Amino acid sequence: MTPRGDTTPAGRPLIIPLFIPHMGCPHQCIFCNQQSITGKSVQTPSRDQIHREVNRFLKYGKKRPSTTQISFFGGSFLGLGKTTILSLLEAAIPFVQEADVDSIRFSTRPDTVTPEMLDLLNGFPVSTVELGVQSMNDPVLDAAGRGHRAADTVAATALLKKRGYQVGLQMMVGLPEDDDDGAMETACRIAALQPDFVRIYPTLVLKGSPLASRFLSGRYHPMGLAACVTLVKRLYLFFKTHHIPVVRMGLQASDGLTRAGDFIAGPYHPAFGHLVHGEIVLDAISSALGRMENPPDPLTITVHPTMVSRVQGLNKNNLRHLKHAFDLKKIALLQNANQDQNHLMVADRQVTLP
Ligand code: SF4
Repeated sequence: MTPRGDTTPAGRPLIIPLFIPHMGCPHQCIFCNQQSITGKSVQTPSRDQIHREVNRFLKYGKKRPSTTQISFFGGSFLGLGKTTILSLLEAAIPFVQEADVDSIRFSTRPDTVTPEMLDLLNGFPVSTVELGVQSMNDPVLDAAGRGHRAADTVAATALLKKRGYQVGLQMMVGLPEDDDDGAMETACRIAALQPDFVRIYPTLVLKGSPLASRFLSGRYHPMGLAACVTLVKRLYLFFKTHHIPVVRMGLQASDGLTRAGDFIAGPYHPAFGHLVHGEIVLDAISSALGRMENPPDPLTITVHPTMVSRVQGLNKNNLRHLKHAFDLKKIALLQNANQDQNHLMVADRQVTLP
């Protein structure tokens, strides 16, 4: 069976997530607490567990979109060993044969992608592979203990694309030895690889990770939330300019990287993506008001109903900021379902969102 590149990340397939801990991972990435997880309570799921979990999702899942995928995530799939890889794929196969699921996706380290390992996937309906790139800067990869080079990501992406897989690239911000310029450089080099989509994750300090001891001894300072949101906003806009969808910004508990009680410090927010989009809208409105000689007060902003929360910002922070910055007493937010989602009316000026 050839890979089925029939999913469009922008089309938001229903993804059935199956967390696969990387048992016995030979690496120790500085931000990862897998070593403290494995061997304790988390095991690679059995065929029965996979079937139960997938059936649970299929039964109670949200309204079915056009595409449904089983996603093996959390570890480095192609580094699991051939027997485990085959048993996981074989457990997923019946759902594809029954047409309940369209295809399979997984995440893996760039240096696990070899012609031999991809040969192993022949005959399985794997459509999408995500690579944990993290950075395209070798000194940053070294400092993070990743054990692979940027060149591995270049080679892996080329190999996967040549074989027809959809490729997603995951990058991190706030790693030791990295900064805003380094993150933008990573984004440039990722864009040059023309992935089908990207994810952007902030570096968090997790209990049991090497980064935790550095943080606790004052040798690592995580990014602040506001600075991280602003950097991720720049990255999002950069990728958008290059027509590369950003399908996730920030971590969710369901990413498997944060168990209850694991989070120690760092720019975590459950609505991280919303904060980024809110800041994009705030910038656009601020820029429009900055070009007005005397912004009207009360100020009227007219938006499509789906954009209201982004214009308001979290806890209406955007409106508070605008009032303060432009000395406004009142902002009236009007909804207009006929308005294009990408356009706002700020007083009588049309503002196009980037
Ligand atoms: S991030 Fe992946 S490769 Fe790195 S230590 Fe954790 S499981 Fe291993």
